[in-house]
Amino acid sequence: MLIRDLAIVGGGPAGLAAGIYAARAALKTVLFEQGMPGGLAASTEIIENYPGFSSGIGGPELAQNMEAQARRFGLELVYAGVEEITKREGYFFLKTDGGEFRAGAVIAATGAKPKFLEVKGEREFHGRGVSYCATCDGAFFRGKKVAVIGGGDSAVEEALFLTRFADKVFIVHRRGELRAAKYLQQKAMNNEKIQIVWHSVPVEIKGEDMVAGISLKDVRTGSITDLDVDGVFIYVGHSPISNLVRGMADLDENGYIITDDEMRTSTAGLFAAGDVRRKTLRQVVTAVADGAIAAVSAEKYLEGLKG
Ligand code: NAP
Repeated sequence: MLIRDLAIVGGGPAGLAAGIYAARAALKTVLFEQGMPGGLAASTEIIENYPGFSSGIGGPELAQNMEAQARRFGLELVYAGVEEITKREGYFFLKTDGGEFRAGAVIAATGAKPKFLEVKGEREFHGRGVSYCATCDGAFFRGKKVAVIGGGDSAVEEALFLTRFADKVFIVHRRGELRAAKYLQQKAMNNEKIQIVWHSVPVEIKGEDMVAGISLKDVRTGSITDLDVDGVFIYVGHSPISNLVRGMADLDENGYIITDDEMRTSTAGLFAAGDVRRKTLRQVVTAVADGAIAAVSAEKYLEGLKG
């Protein structure tokens, strides 16, 4: 059994920021990450609204910088998935595929994952034209036509990114107005490669070996039309990764962890930070703020236990 003061689950901006603050506070802190550090931000080509970078900064670069900064202060990063968290006799026990750990406090910074559209052909063509990551797969669509499904920040931002490769990018949105920030909307409207297909939802993704097109339903009339595309990028929202703390922390109706302003959950010593938390604005800047607050709250909690 490995013993630490604090365990952070998830190495996105929230987890890494928590790690920086906790390590600087001289807490013996371990952070578990099962993939690449940086979370969803690391798969964003460019982050334009994180203060301090006047020309924007690449998501992977920002993630690497945060990781290096955390390591410089002595954060221990363990590349392992956490399978179970339990609390017994005042301690948290974390079963991971890198061994069993005991910690006095835990910060859940497990983030969110893209939602599926749940239409015919989506699973079948996943990896064969259907993608949830333009940064990862965009370059395969050089000179081709693609559809981006959704009208939020992710959909519009990634549609703009895809115009670097694709000849034509359709944004398929179910309403007559985009949800994305006005600044992104303007950029999309001014981009001649982008065409918005309003009031429409995909009903089927079609093809033989690879995606060849989608059938779209006009939600006002019910009429179906086919759109020839080589790729479909799905950005219809995210869902929280909160299963690990289900039963320990109160969740809202969508599965987001409910915290107070100090990032405390309904279980003493368990904190939450970043996209997994119920909040109104999900951005890198709010994730790192959550992480910093959670680390300071965890420090106070651990001091209280000693006292
Ligand atoms: P989102 O804001 O929830 O947008 C999801 C979009 O998908 C909406 O336009 C929604 O339509 C549409 N949609 C949902 N279910 C659908 C369905 N079944 N069929 C068709 N369309 C469907 O999600 P997101 O864009 O992934 O963003 C998640 C969070 O991250 C947000 O808080 C966002 O602000 C943040 N984010 C910020 C940035 C940035 O600041 N640069 C970048 C990425 C993400 P309706 O509009 O009709 O609901």
